[in-house]
This record gives sequence, structure tokens and C-alpha cells, in this order.
Amino acid sequence: MTTATKAKTIEIDNFIGGKAVKSKDGKTFQTISPGTGEVLGTVSYGTADDINLAVDAAKEAFENGPWPKMSMQDRANILLKVAALVEKNADELARAETLDTGKPITESRTGDIARVASNFQFYPNFAQSLADESWTPNPQERHTAIREPLGVCGLITPWNLPLYLATWKIAPCLIMGNACVLKPAEWTPYTAFLFAKLAKEAGVPDGVLNIVNGFGAGGAGEALTKHPDVKSISFTGETGTGRAIMASAAGTLKKLSFELGGKGANIIFEDANLDEALPTSVRAAYRNQGQVCLAGSRLFVQESIYPKVVKAMVERVKNLKVGDPLDPKTEMGALISKEHMEKVQTYIELGRKDGKCLTGGDPIKELGGGFFLSPSVFEGLAYDSKFCQEEIFGPVLPIIPFKDEEEVIKMANSTPYGLSASLWSQDVNRCNRVARKLKSGMVWVNCWFARDLRTPFGGQKSSGLGREGGRYSLEFFSDWKAVSYKYSD
Ligand code: NAD
Repeated sequence: MTTATKAKTIEIDNFIGGKAVKSKDGKTFQTISPGTGEVLGTVSYGTADDINLAVDAAKEAFENGPWPKMSMQDRANILLKVAALVEKNADELARAETLDTGKPITESRTGDIARVASNFQFYPNFAQSLADESWTPNPQERHTAIREPLGVCGLITPWNLPLYLATWKIAPCLIMGNACVLKPAEWTPYTAFLFAKLAKEAGVPDGVLNIVNGFGAGGAGEALTKHPDVKSISFTGETGTGRAIMASAAGTLKKLSFELGGKGANIIFEDANLDEALPTSVRAAYRNQGQVCLAGSRLFVQESIYPKVVKAMVERVKNLKVGDPLDPKTEMGALISKEHMEKVQTYIELGRKDGKCLTGGDPIKELGGGFFLSPSVFEGLAYDSKFCQEEIFGPVLPIIPFKDEEEVIKMANSTPYGLSASLWSQDVNRCNRVARKLKSGMVWVNCWFARDLRTPFGGQKSSGLGREGGRYSLEFFSDWKAVSYKYSD
């Protein structure tokens, strides 16, 4: 059987006030390894009581601890040590992420965990360039605007890129002098717990980073969104959850940042360089088993090259190596859970009924008890069908032909989402025209997933509220104060 079955059952606790702690009532839940379907670990089941303890610890650290009073350079030095420790422990963290998520180990190591280290290299350095503002309308007056930390910040994260996205929030939150409480996704609590210990080892003071494991609605997640001492919620997850959080945070008027669902359009025009467009389109649709908010999950192909592209895509998808997530040669691993796999399968049935499945779409029993699905390609599905409008979050791809720019823009913009889109063409004027007309927070021209951490990351329409990245995250995790000076002479 796979090496994943040899993993020992582990204990994953909450992390409060610089210590690993069990939940107050001693309850636990299990985290399952998607590659085997077996229990990976026992997790402390946090509830509102544990959130209260974590918020108290964060409040104490913020009000009476050294963190917010330190110079930014001193905080940066500690956070850079976090980055160094992540790099030192990258193999262990990558293995843990793969065991907990089912994603291929190569992706965990060179994608997720490499990015965790970058998050902690980028923010401490970038934040140093922030300047306060000042206006002098006459020699006797000076008006300044200074940034202050918010206090206790709530962070809520999903399971698809667990530590990558958690640290994308923790790093800017901490460099600005805040303390935080993280509620990781219930499916993937493992790496956040390992990370908290590294942060402590690097010198992050007790209480500055707290973690409570548990569930969302009615559980630890909701309790965090309602807590009166929590000043903000930075949330990444489903659009529907964003709506619920906005409602539950309303009573305490929190600052909110939402990174939500997507249904990315990937558009190939007839003059595209197919040698680049095709392999990238496969990655865009099937990376992390298609469980990526930025996935190119609808492929639009211009009519004149449609048959050629469909044939080539099917061949490439058939060749994807699905297998043991711990095998470095594996290109596609397991889906996150049995429940999620069943949800994806209901869409596959729909796709077979309303269109045609050209390859894949079946559970792979030979791989044992894990949640493996063969990658699938569909055609014949209308752009406005349920299959092409809803976020499926699995290894499924509809290919849709289009006539011209006008038609593809209409189809690409037809979903409620607006997170990301890609387009492929060698005509620079067309690229500019189409990029401007796509209702999307991010557009990739002749590429996918290319990132500079300084650019604004986030969605339009139902894909989000606000932006993360660069100065956008630093703005979110701080508040402005205007201080005006009057001089007597
Ligand atoms: P989810 O919304 O089900 O859960 C995300 C987190 O929210 C979990 O920690 C969960 O416990 C918590 N939660 C759920 N209900 C809650 C509530 N009522 N109050 C407080 N917390 C609650 O999302 P998921 O299934 O974990 O992740 C997949 C989704 O995340 C997809 O829609 C995907 O597109 C989206 N996503 C978006 C981005 C982005 O940057 N836009 C990145 C990754 C994933």
C-alpha cells in the first residue's frame, strides 16, 4: 500500500498563549488522510469557550505584551527567523500538508511550503517601506496620518492551501503589530499546529499567535466572528460562508476581508501559442485536483482551433499521473474528503447527462481507500448550465467553443464569480481589450498563477471583498489615526 498508510496517528491541539492546549471540554475530532481514507490524527475540538480563551490571550499580548510596542525592524527580525525555520523544516511541513490534504508532495514542497517561507520573507521586508503621511498647509500647522495596529484579529482559512493561506494572513497581521486567533479549516489542522511551534521557537511572544481548531457555523469559527474583542476577520473560503460571516460579524461591526469562490475562465484564441497554452491549461484545471479558487475551470476555445485543442487536451489529461500523494512523481493526488468527492461526482453525473464526458470522471479503486478521481474533460455543455456556472472544485473541465471576442467575453462574465481569468493570444491589442472587459479581480495574459506578492489579490462580484497582498494587506491589518499639530510661532 502507499507510504501514507505508515503514518502514525498524531495529536493536534489548540495553541493558546504560547502553549499547546486541549479544548476546554476535552472533546476531539479526527482528521482523515485523503490519500488513504484512514485517520491521520486526533484534533482538539475547539468551541466558543476555547475562542474566548484564545481571544483573552491575544488581548493580553496586545495590551500588555512587547509585540505592538517593538520597532517594526525588531518584529521583522523575528518574522524572518520564522521564515528561516520554515525553510529548515520544509520537508516535514510538506509531508504533513500532503498527509492532511492529499495533494502531491512535490506540489506541497515546491508550491505550498515554499510560499509559506516567502510570505514570511516578503512581509517583514516590504512593510519597512510603508510611510506615514503628512500635510503642512501653513508653517504653524502640520497634519499627520499614522498607522496603528487593530488589536486582536480573527483569521479563518480553508482546506485547499492550508498553511499557504494561513500564513498569507498571519505574516501581514503580525508585522503590523497585531495579535491574532486563527481558526484553520476542520479538514486540515495539521500544519498550522506545527507552524505555531516554529513561530514560538523564532521568538514570536506568547499570545501573539493563537490557534483554535474546530468547525464553522455554530462552532469556533462563528464564535470568532461574533467576539466583541476581535476587531477584524480576514476570511478565505466559500462565497456562502462569506455571506454568513458578514451577517454574524455585523453585531460587533468588524473590519472584513473576504477571499471567496471562483469559476475562472481560461480563453484560448486562434492565434495563441499552443505549446504554452495547452500544458498551462492542464495545470490550471487540475492542479491540487482542481481544488484551487484560481483554477481555469472553464476552457473557452475559438472555433477554428476547437477540434485540435480538444484532442490535445484529452491526450494530455489522460497522461496525468494520478497516484500516491507521497510519491514525488505523482501529478494528481486525492480529493480532500469522501463528502467532497461525492459532491464532485454529482456534477460529473450532470455533465454526462447534459453533455459528453471525453475522458475520466471515475473513482480510482486500485489506489486503495483514498479519495481518488480520474481527471475528466467534458464538451457539449452550455456556458450558462449549472455545470459551467457553479464552483465544482474538482478535477473536471468543460471545454466550450466560441466565435469571437464579443461572444467569449459575454460567456466568461456570465457567472456570479469574478476572481481570476486567463487569456491566450499573440495579439497584444486584443489581450489589452479583452483583459479590460473581463469582470475579474485578476487576469493572466499568456500565463496562469503568475504572482508578484506586491500586486492586489482578490475578486470582483461574488468572489470577494477587499484585496490581499502588498500594501493592501498591510492597510487591512492597520487603522489610520490623524494627529494634527498647531505651533504657536
Ligand atoms: P468554507 O467556506 O466551507 O470554509 C472555510 C473556513 O470557514 C473553514 O475554516 C470553516 O470552518 C469556516 N467556516 C465555515 N462556516 C463558517 C461560519 N458560519 N462562520 C465562521 N467560519 C466558518 O470553505 P472551504 O470548503 O474550506 O474552502 C473552499 C472554498 O474556498 C472554495 O469556495 C474556494 O474557491 C475558496 N477559496 C478562495 C480563495 C481565494 O483566495 N479567493 C482561496 C482558497 C479557497
